[in-house]
Amino acid sequence: MRRPSVTIVGGGASGALAAIHLLRLARRSGTAVAVTLLDRQGRHALGQAYATTDPHHLLNTPVERMSALEDEPEHLLDWARAAGLDVDDAGYLPRAVYGRYLREVLADAEDPPTRPLHRVTATAVALEGEHTVRLADGRRVESDAVVLALGNRSPAPVPGVAAHPRHLADPWAGGALAGIDDGTPVLVLGTGLTMVDVALTVTRTHPGTVVYALSRHALLPRPHLSSPAAPLPVTIPDGPLRVAGLLRATRHAVRDSDGDWHGVMEGLRPHAQALWQQLSLEERRLFLRRVARYWEIHRHRIPPASAAAIAELRASGRLRLLRGSLIEAAPSAGGLRVRADLDGVATDLDVGWLVNATGPAADVTTDPFLAGLVAAGTARLDPLRLGLDAGADGAVLDATGRPDERLFALGPLLRGTLYETTAVPEIRAQAAALAPRLMEVAASVTAHALSGAG
Ligand SMILES: Cc1cc2nc3c(=O)[nH]c(=O)nc-3n(C[C@H](O)[C@H](O)[C@H](O)COP(=O)(O)OP(=O)(O)OC[C@H]3O[C@@H](n4cnc5c(N)ncnc54)[C@H](O)[C@@H]3O)c2cc1C
Repeated sequence: MRRPSVTIVGGGASGALAAIHLLRLARRSGTAVAVTLLDRQGRHALGQAYATTDPHHLLNTPVERMSALEDEPEHLLDWARAAGLDVDDAGYLPRAVYGRYLREVLADAEDPPTRPLHRVTATAVALEGEHTVRLADGRRVESDAVVLALGNRSPAPVPGVAAHPRHLADPWAGGALAGIDDGTPVLVLGTGLTMVDVALTVTRTHPGTVVYALSRHALLPRPHLSSPAAPLPVTIPDGPLRVAGLLRATRHAVRDSDGDWHGVMEGLRPHAQALWQQLSLEERRLFLRRVARYWEIHRHRIPPASAAAIAELRASGRLRLLRGSLIEAAPSAGGLRVRADLDGVATDLDVGWLVNATGPAADVTTDPFLAGLVAAGTARLDPLRLGLDAGADGAVLDATGRPDERLFALGPLLRGTLYETTAVPEIRAQAAALAPRLMEVAASVTAHALSGAG
């Protein structure tokens, strides 16, 4: 018997959260639905962020905000306690443990044979006809609705750096850092959250490793307070907003709270998507050019334990921040000779390894599947080309701006539309809102197909 079916392309946290919410809703309403979760690396429920095995890679969000279920904020804490972990709601779990949690919540949500979840390890390469996903191995997955949860792209290639065995072009690739164990210096391009991961791992692997971290502004992510900041109100005018107005309101809120910028950032967070949409396209561009780098380091903070470890590495000279830009890197006897412009001075550095931690590539068309959707007019890029254009319910807009009734997106792919859409608290809200929509669409397509068959 034909039952409603949904295919989710991308099996990271976004895809897993979409499946969890859909299957749980189907169970509550006694509806049959089949879900296929496709992941090209077989990292179902883990994806890029939670596939790490390094126990020092911590969540950058406290336990109390990382439940998979927005309406059950204690869900993660209860799970962690039941698993015998010593953690409180203001603590930061290892990301690998969080991956285990997501996997278990996903497994609990499936209900074969009425609500099966098919975990498929394969790469989606095209969307054909009536929402059939074609896989790289030639198989086809037919379903009533498709969710795009492809997450972040790998970092963009760095100009001036050729492929080399000691140049790690994607530090998030499985086991990428495992080879950096010979104690030679490591140059990390970027000084953000990924650099923090890389520095914590490679300096523990070998006691002699020194890390150079290079970026244009050499800004490090700020640390969380030892207990999570309470959100403070920020008064933002209604209607069209300018970046200058947003900054003014933020500064006033910080001043009025005696400098509690952590609380102000927490107060802004629930409104971030609405604020982004209040900015005109020009103002969004201005934000990206002038403000984003400061927003990122204050908004995406690191746990106190990671901040302390980074401070210790800096104090001992094992982590050195460099402000400037890379000019070129060429193979040398021990690894790579790097030429960088440091505050206007061309400087050579001999390093054993070069790691690209410049963050996800902005251009989603570097992904062949997404590029194909855009080329076919099934999807279009948002005006800032940060991701796909979508309606308020995540329905993907086609080349003419018409929402596709059966194709949805969530998570980092919606960066241009929502801006703050890369962390679990935002993604789980999208997954919860998408679930009833998917049920409705899948049920109506199935009913239509059955009436046609009858
Ligand atoms: C290092 C790191 C740490 C983070 N820490 C936190 C944190 O502590 N708290 C927090 O809230 N957020 C954190 N984040 C943010 C993170 O983006 C989200 O929490 C979440 O993991 C995003 O998941 P995703 O599924 O959208 O993307 P991804 O994890 O990138 O998953 C997408 C998946 O899609 C698969 N895929 C892509 N293309 C195809 C295709 N064509 N066919 C089949 N499969 C495909 C990929 O293989 C991948 O597994 C972190 C992010 C990173 C990178």
